[in-house]
Amino acid sequence: MRIGIYPGSFDPLTNGHLDIIERAKKLCDRMIIAIARNSEKQPLFTVEERLDMIEQCCLPCKNTRVDIVAFDGLLIDFCRDKQVSFIVRGLRAIVDFEYEYAIALMNRKLAQEIDTVFLMAMSEYSFVSSRMVKEVAGYGGDVSSLVPQFVHTKLREKYSG
Ligand code: ADP
Repeated sequence: MRIGIYPGSFDPLTNGHLDIIERAKKLCDRMIIAIARNSEKQPLFTVEERLDMIEQCCLPCKNTRVDIVAFDGLLIDFCRDKQVSFIVRGLRAIVDFEYEYAIALMNRKLAQEIDTVFLMAMSEYSFVSSRMVKEVAGYGGDVSSLVPQFVHTKLREKYSG
C-alpha cells in the first residue's frame, strides 16, 4: 500500500493546499494530511480548529483513504511510525525551492527510504500563502476566492471578534 503524507501548518487551509491535496490523493492508496503542532509559534487557529477545517473542506475520496491528524516532533519519525512511502510538498515559486530542497535533503539524510514528491502549484494559486491570506483578511480584504467558504467564515469570525 502506498501511503503519502502531506505535512504543513495549514494556518489556515487555502485553496492552494486543497489543490495539492486533490492531486496528491491520486498518487496514493492512503493519504495522511498532517498538521505539525510545533511549526507555528503563534498560530491564528488552534490545531483543533485547523483539523476541523480540513475535515470540513476535504471531499471524501472513493479510492483513497484520507486521514487528518496532528503530530509532534520530527516528521520522519512520524512517517516511519505510519509506514509512509513518500512526503508530498507543494512548490509555488523559486522562493519555495531553496527551503523545500533543504528540508527534502535533510529528511532523506534522516530516512533514505522516504522520498519527497513535489507538486507544482496551480498558477491561479501560486501566489497564495496562509501568511498572506491572514494578513489581507486581518485588514478586512476580500480573500473569499483564495480559501474554502468554511475557512472564509472562520477568518471573519476571528477578525471580527
Ligand atoms: P509549512 O509551514 O510547512 O510551509 P504550509 O501550510 O505553509 O506549511 O504549506 C504546506 C505545504 O503546502 C508546503 O509544501 C507549501 O509549499 C505548500 N503550499 C502552500 N501554499 C500553496 C499553494 N498556494 N499552492 C501549492 N502549494 C502550496
